[in-house]
Amino acid sequence: MSGSVQNITKMVTSMRGELIELTRDLVKFPTVNPPGEAYTPCAEFIGNLLARSGYEIQYVRGEGTPGDTNRYPRTNVIARIEGSRPGPVVHFNSHIDVVPPGEGWSVDPFAAIVRDGKVYGRGTCDMKGGMAASIIAAQAYTAINPNFPGAIEISGTVDEESGGYGGVAYLAERGFFSRPRVDHVIIPEPLNKDRVCLGHRGVWWAEIETKGEVAHGSMPFLGDCAIRHMGAVIESFEKKLFPALDRKQTAMPIVPPGAKRSTMNINAIHGGQTDDYSGLPSANVPDSCKMTIDRRFLIEEDMSQVKQEVIDILEEIKVSRDNFDYAVRDIMQVLPTMVDKDTPVALAVADGIREVFGREPEYVISPGTYDQKHITRIGHLQDCIAYGPGILDLAHRPDEFVVIDDMVESARVMALALSYLLEGKHTA
Ligand SMILES: [Zn+2]
Repeated sequence: MSGSVQNITKMVTSMRGELIELTRDLVKFPTVNPPGEAYTPCAEFIGNLLARSGYEIQYVRGEGTPGDTNRYPRTNVIARIEGSRPGPVVHFNSHIDVVPPGEGWSVDPFAAIVRDGKVYGRGTCDMKGGMAASIIAAQAYTAINPNFPGAIEISGTVDEESGGYGGVAYLAERGFFSRPRVDHVIIPEPLNKDRVCLGHRGVWWAEIETKGEVAHGSMPFLGDCAIRHMGAVIESFEKKLFPALDRKQTAMPIVPPGAKRSTMNINAIHGGQTDDYSGLPSANVPDSCKMTIDRRFLIEEDMSQVKQEVIDILEEIKVSRDNFDYAVRDIMQVLPTMVDKDTPVALAVADGIREVFGREPEYVISPGTYDQKHITRIGHLQDCIAYGPGILDLAHRPDEFVVIDDMVESARVMALALSYLLEGKHTA
């Protein structure tokens, strides 16, 4: 095996230039979600590239899933290469969508500029750099071991940033992420080159509406202001809910440490006149105010308890405040996921990290959710982790970048993990 370790190191290192160019090529597709721009050309680019390396290519459109239209088709690509004899199947899954670039960039977010050993651009870190590293890892491995056993799959999937319904969830429902088709899945999300990510926290997105009564704004006492009612909700959240969430600590190894507690973001709040109207306001008392909350929870909590905490606060206000009325609507729910450290794919990646870095891997849980949930819950495949280059803190921010050396080292880890999973760790 040590000879093969050296060969893998040599081969991946020699493909550094290709790795950089592949990352740049992927970043140049502005696969912004929403709305789901350039999915098809990006998927076809990946498909054409892998077809040239002997992979069989399948395109699967997430037909009828949220956002899927003829203008913005949810195009996924799945590539598979069969080995020379039966054996396990290892799958690398990356999402091709990126979040909108937003403001504050000092470089063109889709030019994929290389500077100071980094590639800059939206999606470099999250997660086209990781995808490129996994493709190079697979190509390096098959170049060295053309008679490998089993099969390797590489997929580029859509909509991870908006829940993955047109991407991994859609494919998982159709058996793409279940045995016997697949045995081990690595998702190259940017959790850092020396960390094995075992899962993620849970999510409850909900909309809370407070209700009022319309009246003329010069006589607000004749109506009932929904925004003032929402003010009472925020006040109560500040006094009771946020301190309670802060006190909830988890045994999950979440990074960064701030996310080892329960958290809630007030994502949006709206009441009364819309802000896209530029004329003079009309004198109205608003009869509705809506707040969107993004609650992230721990494996020790359950969904019903998470919801009940919010309902309890709203019910308490109802008792103490005149005419208070509310509604709560679920937007999205994701249960926390955590696989075992000694699941085969985690062991293989951990061994790869030990080999490349000469130290123990760190085991972490992601503060945010990603497509692992669909693979474990819909595909019923527990042998799935996230591992990839890049620092999560940089994801979704201006001047996002990925360090080229990190990509090369991660590609080495992935190629080693591939060899351990397909051939067994201790074969000659
Ligand atoms: Zn991501």
